[in-house]
Amino acid sequence: MPKKRKSGGRSKGHGTGRSGYLTCDFCGRRMPADKIKKVTFWYSPIDYQLKKELIKQGSRVPRYKVTKYVCIRCAVHRGIIKIRAEKDRKKEQVTA
Ligand SMILES: [Zn+2]
Repeated sequence: MPKKRKSGGRSKGHGTGRSGYLTCDFCGRRMPADKIKKVTFWYSPIDYQLKKELIKQGSRVPRYKVTKYVCIRCAVHRGIIKIRAEKDRKKEQVTA
């Protein structure tokens, strides 16, 4: 049977064995740890306009690193990953 993706949508190597499970932070779906997408971004609790003003005046605004685990369905829905053409699918995906 032909394979849709070379890796089967997972990052686990052949002969690696079982990987653990993680839960999607958006929908709560349980997924293998090597298949789930890890997204890290900076979050600031201060309003954007106010933050801009504060930085302009030379103050330091706190920001926090937030890491989320996102399942494939949620990642596609939120534009974190995109559906690719058949010939592009065979290549390794570079996540921004
Ligand atoms: Zn999800």
